[in-house]
Amino acid sequence: MSSLTEKDRPIVQLLLNTGTCPRCILRFCRVGSQTLYRHPYRDLMKDLEEFLKNNQGKEDRDCFDVVDPPSKRVRLEHTEGPDDPNHNGALHQIPLVKDENTAVENLAVKVCNVCLGILQDFCETDFVKRVCQKVSSANYQFTSFVFSVSLPPQLSVRERAAWLLVKQEMGATACPDCFKPAKNKQSVFTRMAVLKALEKIKEEDFLKHFSCPPSSPKNFCDVLEIQCNNGAIFVAGRYNKYSRNLPQTPWIIDGERKLDSSVEELISEHLMAEFKADSFNFSSSGREDVDVRTLGNGRPFAIELVNPRRIHFTAEEMKGLQQTINNSSDKIQVRDLQLVTREAIGRMKEGEEEKTKTYSALIWIDKAIQKEDLAFLDDIKELKLDQKTPLRVLHRRPLAVRCRIIHTMKSEYIDEHHFRLHLKTQAGTYIKEFVHGDFGRTKPNIGSLLNRTADILELDVESVDIDWPPTLDD
Ligand code: ZN
Repeated sequence: MSSLTEKDRPIVQLLLNTGTCPRCILRFCRVGSQTLYRHPYRDLMKDLEEFLKNNQGKEDRDCFDVVDPPSKRVRLEHTEGPDDPNHNGALHQIPLVKDENTAVENLAVKVCNVCLGILQDFCETDFVKRVCQKVSSANYQFTSFVFSVSLPPQLSVRERAAWLLVKQEMGATACPDCFKPAKNKQSVFTRMAVLKALEKIKEEDFLKHFSCPPSSPKNFCDVLEIQCNNGAIFVAGRYNKYSRNLPQTPWIIDGERKLDSSVEELISEHLMAEFKADSFNFSSSGREDVDVRTLGNGRPFAIELVNPRRIHFTAEEMKGLQQTINNSSDKIQVRDLQLVTREAIGRMKEGEEEKTKTYSALIWIDKAIQKEDLAFLDDIKELKLDQKTPLRVLHRRPLAVRCRIIHTMKSEYIDEHHFRLHLKTQAGTYIKEFVHGDFGRTKPNIGSLLNRTADILELDVESVDIDWPPTLDD
């Protein structure tokens, strides 16, 4: 049980006289237990005054030692006479209940010159209730929480002034180590700058610039905002894209939207609604062009849901959510939808370049071909390409020559001017350019290999060979 002792008396007297609130006084006297701070402000103020008044001349012992509020009250209510065995000195000198209506009424609440009232109003039940109401009305699911308070920077200055006062008056005998200013960064008039300045300034210079004790403020410190926030939740899965008219992310050129929807929106709108999040961040293992379909097992993706209200979902509920997404559009389908950790998303991105991808391309050839003309393509293994940044992406990618590898190819003859080519390639290979050559910027290319002009009519991603997220049972 923490308490004030005789040696604290001058500090209590000094700070009380200069307009410091009881809870700040307890801090300055190094009272560590929370119990005392929980007492109502008016009780504390009165207790301190009684402490100063009634204990004068007593030897050094605990004299502000009280138990928890309820039992304290009960005990005093039943302590009527000096014969009572519980009627010990310390308690006797802190009458609370009996005199409450008289003495307490006379205490005008002055704004504390150190904490600006933060440890006055905001420690009282009414304010705690206000915070509780805000939290419960914000409708979050949570199992634990962090309560953080952002304080005005000038508190540090006031704190320093009060500390210097105590130090000057007391000859620095009390708690020299408990009011060290925190060290931090520089900037103009920010919290950090104030702390930095306080760290540097000499005591005599400080006293020239700031009144000590700190002046008594006229107004209480205001609560600007009570904010609730939940940590982000991450959802991963794989998607198929069946449309040749759907971008992966919203397609906006010069502020103008080109297509109504996108893969990320078709998936995220349902997640946003269910998780009741503020916003989302979509990421995926590579991306396909607007006119390219993604088939097979689909492309791994992850969505960060920012500040979600709801966070608990069973596997069954996730399955239901996946079904909702799949029922809402025939342009995409989602599988293996699951909750993952932030760390796990790294696995989707790492080694992306080394992964292989499988494509299927429908190719047009200007001069008539026969099936035999294509046979040699099937025998080519680990074909090295030099790809200059394609013309179509040059506006957003730097000009460079990248070496890419076509691991294997398999042709499928259709007619004299068409065939389908199945390719297994290094991730990051530009397939369209490998087919038509991009005016000689990709070498070799299907046109140069066949000694004809080739163009690509359709492209599908058949698989993205990344073993993440884990496959789920249906
Ligand atoms: Zn205070």
